Amino acid sequence: MSETMKTYIDQAENDLLHTYNRYQVVLDKGEGVYLYDINGKKYLDFVAGIAVFALGYHYPGYDEAVKNQVDKLIHTSNYYYNLPAIEAAERIKKASGMDRVFFTNSGAEAMEGAMKAALKYAWLKTGKNDQEIIAMNHSFHGRTLGALAVTGTPKYREAFSAVGGNVKFAELNDFDSVLACVTDKTCAIIMEPVQGEGGLLPATEDFLKKVRALCDEKDILLIFDEVQCGMGRTGYIYAWQRYGVKPDIMTSAKGLSCGVPMGAFMMTERVAQSSLTSGDHGTTYGGNPLAAAACAKVFEIFEQDNIVEHVKQVAPYLEKRLMELYEKYDCITGHRGVGLMQGLVFDRPVGEIITKALDKGLLLINAGPNIIRFVPPLIITEQNIDDMIAILDTCIE
Ligand SMILES: *Cc1c(COP(=O)(O)O)cnc(C)c1O
Repeated sequence: MSETMKTYIDQAENDLLHTYNRYQVVLDKGEGVYLYDINGKKYLDFVAGIAVFALGYHYPGYDEAVKNQVDKLIHTSNYYYNLPAIEAAERIKKASGMDRVFFTNSGAEAMEGAMKAALKYAWLKTGKNDQEIIAMNHSFHGRTLGALAVTGTPKYREAFSAVGGNVKFAELNDFDSVLACVTDKTCAIIMEPVQGEGGLLPATEDFLKKVRALCDEKDILLIFDEVQCGMGRTGYIYAWQRYGVKPDIMTSAKGLSCGVPMGAFMMTERVAQSSLTSGDHGTTYGGNPLAAAACAKVFEIFEQDNIVEHVKQVAPYLEKRLMELYEKYDCITGHRGVGLMQGLVFDRPVGEIITKALDKGLLLINAGPNIIRFVPPLIITEQNIDDMIAILDTCIE
């Protein structure tokens, strides 16, 4: 590492709260599917800012849309309307089949809003506030207290559980474990249609359909967290569309504005009619014209350039190449995931491989200690995949 880079890293470690074990690199700029550090070293990016840069860096038209909005107006507050938010909401509705949109600034905030909507729905119905929520083991929904309360990884939650509601955890794809959690107080079931952080585990169609039927029968709201698996990543704009199992409330973020912070929660009209109303929820920045202009442009590009179709075409190739590594190495014990959201399971921690890859100009991240997660920009080509595999192969060796 260069002296300059080391100086910057030391400074950061001196100033920032130590909540992350960062990789030892200071990034400077991006181009397409590549990132460059402050010394000009080039990296093939299979992380995409954790599934954020669906369109990679500087996709034609995106920067212009953001820059134009910077020159016009970047914030209004939600006391007023703004055109980009109106357009973004319209596009989200069309893509998601949901009827009402609330904009947030992050995925965790979107989860908070989704949970508040479900709690309010139950409160209006029963007049009580002792509702329970069912969430999934190994799920990840964000780091704020509410989102954390439904995150199925105890080590994230333990120290902070003094604040947090009545949450029960079931096992993804085990319908009986969900049934066992249901009581008269259950107001919502929350899950990621494809678990991201928890290990790239997709829900099965059978499981989703059974949970949907259960929710219909008992008037429980089904909430899908599409923060990571949404925005085209699975080859569908939202992952649930693969199975046609529609939620009552859903969340989106990460790829939603491809880099400008934004999240959203959406709901059907039926829920909206008896849920959050004037004064129940708010945000200062959510739906600001800058983020909304980026979001509207992202949807426009997705449509014009058939990004989702590209994912459908290129993802099987990634899977094929990863399966070859799986066949080749005994230390790889499994393959997981769907679309451009895949993982290789190792019989040991993967930190060392990821560090080696970084050294060789490839960015990768883990999902849990033993899984390498592949969430590249959706615009990657087969050539990019070959390049990635070539480097990864030498790192595993
Ligand atoms: C990243 C993530 C979140 C939290 O999003 P933030 O923008 O970091 O708050 C929530 N749910 C899922 C599935 C995620 O991957």
